[in-house]
Parts: sequence; C-alpha cells; structure tokens
Amino acid sequence: MMMLTKKMIEIRSLLQTVGQSETLTLPSIVVIGSQSSGKSSVLEAIVGHEFLPKGSNMVTRRPIELTLVNTPDAHAEYGEFPALGLQKVTDFSQIQKTLTDLNLSVPASQCVSDDPIQLRIYSPNVPDLSLIDLPGYIQVTGRDQPPELKEKIAELVNKYLKPPNVILAISAADVDLANSTALRASRKVDPRGERTIGVITKMDLVDPERGASLLTDRKYALRLGYVGVVSRAPPSTSGGKLFNRGNGNISNAIAKNEQQFFSAHEAFGPDSHLQVGTQNLKKKLMQVLEQTMAASLKTTGEAIQRELAEATYEYKVQYNERPLSAESYLAESLDAFKHSFRGFSESFGRQQVRELLKHELDQQVLNLLAQRYWNRPFEDLSVPLPDADPLASLAKADPEGENQIWQIKLDSSSAALTKLGVGRLATSVVANSLQAHIDRLIQNSRFASHPFARQAITEASTSILKDLSYDISDELEICIKPYKYRIEVEDHEWAKGRDNVTNVLKEELKVCESAVKKLEEEVGGRKKVRDVVAFIDRVRSGQVVLEGDGIGGAGGFSSALLQKGREAVFLRDRVDVLKMRLLAVKSKQCATKKNKYHCPEVFLDAVADKLTTTADLFLDAELLSKFYYIFPRELDARLGRGLSQSEIDRFAREDPKVRRHLDVVRRKELLEHVLKEMDSLRQLEAREKRYAAQR
Ligand code: GDP
Repeated sequence: MMMLTKKMIEIRSLLQTVGQSETLTLPSIVVIGSQSSGKSSVLEAIVGHEFLPKGSNMVTRRPIELTLVNTPDAHAEYGEFPALGLQKVTDFSQIQKTLTDLNLSVPASQCVSDDPIQLRIYSPNVPDLSLIDLPGYIQVTGRDQPPELKEKIAELVNKYLKPPNVILAISAADVDLANSTALRASRKVDPRGERTIGVITKMDLVDPERGASLLTDRKYALRLGYVGVVSRAPPSTSGGKLFNRGNGNISNAIAKNEQQFFSAHEAFGPDSHLQVGTQNLKKKLMQVLEQTMAASLKTTGEAIQRELAEATYEYKVQYNERPLSAESYLAESLDAFKHSFRGFSESFGRQQVRELLKHELDQQVLNLLAQRYWNRPFEDLSVPLPDADPLASLAKADPEGENQIWQIKLDSSSAALTKLGVGRLATSVVANSLQAHIDRLIQNSRFASHPFARQAITEASTSILKDLSYDISDELEICIKPYKYRIEVEDHEWAKGRDNVTNVLKEELKVCESAVKKLEEEVGGRKKVRDVVAFIDRVRSGQVVLEGDGIGGAGGFSSALLQKGREAVFLRDRVDVLKMRLLAVKSKQCATKKNKYHCPEVFLDAVADKLTTTADLFLDAELLSKFYYIFPRELDARLGRGLSQSEIDRFAREDPKVRRHLDVVRRKELLEHVLKEMDSLRQLEAREKRYAAQR
C-alpha cells in the first residue's frame, strides 16, 4: 500500500507543475486551527522538526503546501523549495527562516495571497503525506476588516476546504469544543462529518476523563473520528528546549512522552478504543489520504484527458505541431545571429577600415590646417583683422626668411599629425565601429526582444574589443613610428593627395555653407544676419567703438544676436579661406611636390594617407581577424554552453509569443507524462489487489 500513496503524491506534485487548477489535482489534507490551538506543534510532531514560522503576529499569509516524502533507506533529512530552486536545505531553522521570508513577501495590506508556498520534506521518519497548512485565515476573518478582504479570505479558505480534500481540524483540549474555530469551519463545509479528522491537542492539560470524553464527542460526530495528542516535546527531558531547537529529530521524544502519558491513564488504555498519540495520527492520515486519493483517481484522470485533448488541439491548430523547446529556440536564435555576424564580417574588411580611418584622419588634417594656417589670429571683436589670406600675405613679405617659416610650420604640422596618437585613435575608431555594427545586428535579430541576451552579446563584444584594443593600439603606434622622423612623398602620392584634399576641402566648404544657412534660419532671415555682421565688421575695422564688452548687447543688437553674428563672421571667413585654398590647391603651384611648403593641405593629406595605409593593414590583421575569430566563440560560451537550464528558460520566455508556444508544448508533455504515471499506478494497484487476494 505504501507505494501507492507515494506514487499518488508524486502525481499530485506533477500536477502542481502543470498549473493551479481545481480539477487538475489530487486531494490533500488541509490543516486548520485557531491560533494557539497547537496546530504548529502537531505539524512539527509529524515532521519531527521545528520548522514553521513563529511569533504572535506571524499571521500566515500564504498557504504552505507541504509534501512529505518518506525515504526509508536514507539517513539525511532535508527540505526543498522547488519554486525557488532551493535544494537540500538540511538546516531546519533555515527552512523556518525561508518560510517566514516567503510569508512576509505578501504585503500586510494585501493580507493574504492564494499563491501557495511549496515545501517538500524528505526524511526516513516522515510518512508519505501531502498537507496544506492554512493557518491564520480563520481567525483573521474574525477581526474588523473591510468586507472585500473578508470575502477574499473566505474565498481562499473555501477553495481549500472543498471536497475531496480531507480536513484536519485542530482544537485544544482545554478550550470548549463548541468554541473551536476549526470545528466550526469544517462543520460548515462538511456538515455530516464525512471527511474531517478531529485532533484534540494538549490532552495533558485536562483530566483524563474529560479528555476521553472529548474524543467521543457526539455533538459533531466524525466518521474518521477524533485523535488525542500531546504534541509538545517535554521541556525537561534530554535538554528540553535545546533538543527542540537543534537539528535533532523530536519524534522520539514526543512519542515517548505520549506513551508515558496515555499509558498512565486507564481511560486511554487499549480497551478504550480511543485514538491517541501522534504515531496513530500519522497512520490515520496516511490511510485516509490514500483512500481519498484513490477515490479521486478516476475523475482526476478524466480531467487530465480533457486538458490534454485541449492542449493537443491548440498545439495542432496554433502551432502546426511545430516542436519547440527553450533550448532549441536559443540554439536557433544563436545560429541565426552568428550567421548574420558572418555576413557582416565578410562585408567589413580592410577597405572599410581604410575608409573609416581616412575619413577620421581627414578631419584631423582639417583641424590642424584650421589651427595652424587658416586661423584668424585676432578673434576679439574690438581688434581689426589683418589681410585675408595669411599664406599669401606672408609670402610677399620676405622670400628668404619666409621660406624658412613655412618649412618649420609644415614640419611641425606633419609631426603633430604623426604624433597625434594614431595608434589609439585608429584602434578606437575601428573598435567603436565594430561595436556599433554588433548593436545593429542585435537590433535586427531575434535577440532584440531579449534584454538578457542583448546584454550578454554586448558585454561579449565590448570585453573582447577592450582586451584586444589595449595591446593593438600600442603595437600600431610602434608601426607608424618611422613616420615621426621623416616622410618622403612620391610624385604619384602627391597627385593622389591633391585630388583627395580637393574633395575634402569641397566637402568642408559645403558643411560651412549649410551651417550659414542654418544660422540664417535660426536668426530669422538673411538680412538680419547681414546687419549684425556689418556691425561687427565696423567694430573690427575701428569705425565703431564698442561700448563696454558687448556682453549686454550693443549697436541695437541683443547679446544673443551678437553671438550669432560672431558665428556668422567666423563662417564667412572660413568659407573665404576654403575657397581661396581650393583655388590654390588646384593651381599650378600645387601641382608638384616642389612647392609643398605652400601647399600644406596636399602634403598633410599624403601623410594621412600613409598613416592610413599602415593602420588599415595592421588593424585588419590584428583587430578584425582576431575579433571575427573570438566573438562567435565567446557567444557560444555566454549563450550556449554557459547557461543553466533555468537561464535558458528565462531567456526563451522573455518573448511572449515564444512563451505561449512553450507553455502549450510543456503542458502537453506534462499531461502526457502524468497520464503515463497514472497508468503505471493502475497497474501497481491491480498487482497489489491480486497479491492481497492470493493471501
Ligand atoms: P498554533 O498557534 O496553533 O500553531 O499553536 P502552537 O503549536 O504554537 O502551540 C501554542 C502553545 O501551546 C505553545 O506554547 C505550545 O508549546 C503549546 N502546546 C502545543 N501542544 C501542546 C500540548 O500537547 N500540551 C501542552 N501542554 N502544550 C502544548
């Protein structure tokens, strides 16, 4: 018989994982009792350990679904919280603490929750049982609470007290049974006393005759009867409290104590036919549970069949019977992502790196030119500007000394470019671009709707790029070192530089011109800009004296407008310079490298080109190919092998569509599994019947 209960409890647990449903479950024993009735003590005596939350204000807010699993061959006793993934908690005070925390996780305002806490306890000393602890609720309804809360509690209690569940109603012997909250509650739902077991605790607190009469109560007669217990471990024996608190099993102490107590009184003797003692209570609970579960097997089996038919139908119609598991979903998603990454890696090579770098260096060259050649030395409004093109004006002055100045100027500009930290700059430009591409790939992949995976992939690429960049930027810096000393430009390089820088200057001219347009729109018209610019020009040429510092506005213009005016002047001057320099670059003078000092744009472009060529070769070999090799492997490590089952599940379930699909598949599989288990249970049952008949 033992095997049957175990199997049925297993099936009951399986059904719990299918989901909460009233029809899809096997009966359990629901324990009720008012505060201080001794309910915790009874449950702890059955388990043999103190493990329930204590404290006078510790109103239990969630049901505890307690599954006891008898493990005859094991010594260890431990608990498990399957929903928390907490396995083998051998310290029962830890179980107590976890239960307390889980209870308190329901806010006091909400008072109760019907989300049960699942706890399984494995021990050679426990019977196979399934119990639901519903403390608190019944006495909670007594207080003055808002009606909707009362209703909520009543609903919850009624749900659990429904047939075919067995009710274990706990009352203390020293309180009049007519006043027992537990018996009153069970009488309401089980008026004929067919599925209630009465437990009378604290038998030691009343005289034996009175105790005996309680167990044969006629006012509320129970088919399954009353059991009397003394379920508190005696405080004085074997260290008392210490014994109670520690991890030692208290079953024996309680059994011994009860044995002493009940055998001392004739009223409870073997002839009395009264049921007393925790041991007898355990046996009774097992018998009753087994019978009740067995009686429910047929209807539960039918309910499972119905559910399965429904799930199968949904699977067929909605999902075309396409199998799906969290693992297969992850594997497919990862493959697709790696595929798109491969596609990207084939399209992003040395040429693309080159374009990126050259563009970056073009900007650096423009900055240098602006700082060193094109800059108006006197930006202060109050000081008049010198002549337009500084190159032209200087060239006229003193041919000899002037040549030397231009030579120094170009050498230092070229050195500024080569010593800019090209290693770091180029590496980070390419690494940032790779990262941006990865981000885009993620956005266009299934992972876009999975925050967890998105983060894992981003972290993978950033950490690889960071690691690689560190060494690569240093090594690249070494590669370009020769250029820091001497740069020879060939004729064809000069010609190429001239072409390229012409385009760069044209581009820059366009940028400036569109900035002018934008500024005109902001200020509110070309005329307004022209007026303020004219005013600033007059100030510069000394025709007008600016009062104060111009900060508070001047010449009838607000300070904001003056600021815009300054920007307009700057842009106009920059446009002038660019046009002038474009002409110069295109002129015969800049056609050959002989005149390089007068054509710094062309020379610096040629230098930038040399730097680019070195850098793109190096970065292609070192950064790209290494990244392309490591990244997919890192993805496997972080999203493939590296994930635990629960992480994979969590990942797949992030996507609502996938979650629904997975739920249907899982539900179907679980129901099929349960049906198989029920089948084997029936065979077991039949075998036991045959065996019993033979005897
Ligand atoms: P609960 O509030 O219903 O869970 O009740 P407890 O199990 O916490 O018990 C309330 C009090 O009664 C505690 O102080 C227990 O030690 C005590 N108690 C429980 N069972 C017995 C018993 O059989 N005999 C005696 N004398 N005291 C008991």
